[in-house]
Amino acid sequence: MQGVLLRGLSLLSAIYLLIFVGACTSDEPDPDDVGHDAGHDVEVDAEVGDTADVDAEHPLVDVDTGPSGGERLPFAVECAEPVDGVVSFDFDVDSSADAYTVVPFAFDEKSAIEPQSITTPDGMEIDFQGENFFQIYGLDYPGLQWGTAITVPAAPNFESQLESGSHELVIDSGAEEICYYFVEAEGTPTVLDLNIYLVGLEDIDLTASTAQDHEDFQSILTTVDEIFDQADLSLGEIRYMELEDAVVERYRTIYEEEEIYALVAQSEYPGSDVESALSANVFITERFVFPAIGLAMGIPGPPGYHQSLLSGIALTGEYIGDDEEGNIFTAIAIAHEIGHFLGLFHTSEVNGLIHDPLDDTPECRDFQPPWNCPGFDNLMFPMVNEGSRELTPDQSFVMHANPLTR
Ligand SMILES: [Zn+2]
Repeated sequence: MQGVLLRGLSLLSAIYLLIFVGACTSDEPDPDDVGHDAGHDVEVDAEVGDTADVDAEHPLVDVDTGPSGGERLPFAVECAEPVDGVVSFDFDVDSSADAYTVVPFAFDEKSAIEPQSITTPDGMEIDFQGENFFQIYGLDYPGLQWGTAITVPAAPNFESQLESGSHELVIDSGAEEICYYFVEAEGTPTVLDLNIYLVGLEDIDLTASTAQDHEDFQSILTTVDEIFDQADLSLGEIRYMELEDAVVERYRTIYEEEEIYALVAQSEYPGSDVESALSANVFITERFVFPAIGLAMGIPGPPGYHQSLLSGIALTGEYIGDDEEGNIFTAIAIAHEIGHFLGLFHTSEVNGLIHDPLDDTPECRDFQPPWNCPGFDNLMFPMVNEGSRELTPDQSFVMHANPLTR
């Protein structure tokens, strides 16, 4: 098993990337061989060539899947044309809601949006250019700037931002048409449904038709279930989804981040109703040829929005079945990326300067060495090791506030 220890990740890429640490350092590559900005300037193995060649040799597959993901949303979607680059939407929060998520997006799934604020019935401003900026952090990613999910309250220490009644969301955008949908969360959720896409794992006999009885894969899901049990959540319905052969062949090996965006866009709505849409897409590929093991398309990702560049998480399946440790690493990677998609940030970024907005998660300020870090055992530590699986009460709160848990 190859271990990768990254140094000096950029702030932006670090919020999504999960990398190995610790247990497998004996064959750790020379740091010079590892990209120092894993998100956008990845150096890969010499045999693969540089990333410019990858673009030319591995064009993205454009599969016609009919209407866009946004057109097929099973929620009430309201759209408007920005006036002088600004659009505002009114939405009502029911008094029974324990949390809500509003998802503004550009209908073309290309133009950038910039949420400014939500004004509550009491006149409070939730300021996405100020205190709540962390909620729109994912919009810094080129290609992913067209939509984002905003959950209120984002954390227990923002609980006072939850009010019932009429709210106004203001968004800046140069898009021709901006839309939004809105999902409320009520009560205490107990389950999370997954749509699993297996991409090129035939060599270990892991396909949509074998996964249900695949010993290694089922042990991985059991470990994911144990991790989420700390938040009183269980895996609910697991759907094993099929992909076209051309998609599998194209994306079984992931060379760069943009390919992951394109891969998750191959997701399909698992049904036509709200309940089936509120499920998380998990793509597992044969291998990743860049120094990360997983990626989530948002913190949180847009719940219930399938068939788009923002529709899920992806990770490498290259360690499945290696040994028990490989299965545990894979399980932790799945749980970690789902954690992002539900709204959890890394407890600390590897620069030691950025920490999640939660009060009860450990903060690490010096990653040399990372295993001495407070939070090394937390699921949302930015480097996975087989012990990094703890969840705190505040992290559970965030997972429960997300409408993907029900
Ligand atoms: Zn991560």
